[in-house]
Amino acid sequence: MSSALNKMSVEDFDVSGKKVLVRCDFNVKMENGVITSDKRIVASLPTIKYLIDNKAKVILCSHLGRPKGEFNPEFSMKPVAARLSELLGIEVKMAEDVVGESAQTLAAGLKEGEVLLLENVRFEPGETKNDPELSKKFASLADLYVNDAFGSAHRAHSSTTGVADYLPAACGYLIQKEIQFIGGALENPKRPLVAILGGAKVSDKIGVITNLIDKCDTLIVGGGMAYTFMKALGHHIGNSLLEEDKIELAKEMMDKAKAKGVKFLIPVDNKVGKEYNENTEYMDVNSDEIPDGWMGLDIGPETQKMFADAVKDAGTVIWNGPMGVSEWKNFASGTIAVATAIANSNAISIIGGGDSAAAIQKLGFADKMSHISTGGGASLEYLEGKELPGIAALNDKK
Ligand code: AMP
Repeated sequence: MSSALNKMSVEDFDVSGKKVLVRCDFNVKMENGVITSDKRIVASLPTIKYLIDNKAKVILCSHLGRPKGEFNPEFSMKPVAARLSELLGIEVKMAEDVVGESAQTLAAGLKEGEVLLLENVRFEPGETKNDPELSKKFASLADLYVNDAFGSAHRAHSSTTGVADYLPAACGYLIQKEIQFIGGALENPKRPLVAILGGAKVSDKIGVITNLIDKCDTLIVGGGMAYTFMKALGHHIGNSLLEEDKIELAKEMMDKAKAKGVKFLIPVDNKVGKEYNENTEYMDVNSDEIPDGWMGLDIGPETQKMFADAVKDAGTVIWNGPMGVSEWKNFASGTIAVATAIANSNAISIIGGGDSAAAIQKLGFADKMSHISTGGGASLEYLEGKELPGIAALNDKK
């Protein structure tokens, strides 16, 4: 498997006068046809502006929602074209179809610096099947292909992967940054490398733990998944989340960490609640003293200090998953403490996915992080050490 760090980027192409097909992630949040967050459109601007400034003929495409392989006006890209026009300050032409007559005609007529947006790629039934016929049609629209949709890079679809079989292919700035930070942390991290994993399920993160245990200096496990590890150590965990069939594996992971000299930290104390309920009664208890009938819903104050200490001198921190039920005020402090510790450290900080990224945004720490990943599922698969098809398909630098 070739290194993702060696993939061609948009700047390696001579784009002047060329038609460049760019797979973007315009899968924006919409309500009744109105865009409620344009964050993803804004994030795609650097690549698009680079192409406009360098006289390319720009053809953009993306999926939006799950229209199931047929035209559905509810999932039309038209609102995206309108917002993009406002943001770029130029007209963005909108095709009536994905690779049909309208797309072909408009693409052929593009002038340098002009921008065309195709309809939702998932209107085509071949898209999610990575149908070579559809991939060829995408390729027939352009001279060069740029993938900038990291959020879809773990999916081998026609517009994310297949099209790269028929055109010279490079990544845009968004994917380049993901590769630089996540790939960099995995392949050549500034040490010590500290990984913090949380969230509900061990089973969701096993692949990540297995991969990172070979790379990290310190591995921290918090959140609901930590209780399976505590159980493996023989602790009494009351009604806390438990994956019975993962206890043995949890033990193996901790043994492996020990054998490799990797520090493996799990909570030493917890905020436990009487019920799984936002306003339930709660108290702090040590990890070997969770009473019957209570459940761990957040890490405790000693654990907050321990985790923050581990982050303080880190060279690189990778964080994925909350330390507790952070949606609930009374059980958010562990996640806030970890976010604060990362924000205050000088480490290269990489935040993967949904809840941890949301916590960072909410606390106003986004500017203090080196990298907040734009793809939850994709970043997890990347951290698992899997090759992402949307990146693997791109050409290597010469
Ligand atoms: P994930 O999607 O795997 O990152 O998990 C996020 C979810 O884990 C959030 O909805 C949290 O409420 C939940 N979670 C975190 N810690 C706990 C816990 N101790 N008990 C139950 N759920 C938890």
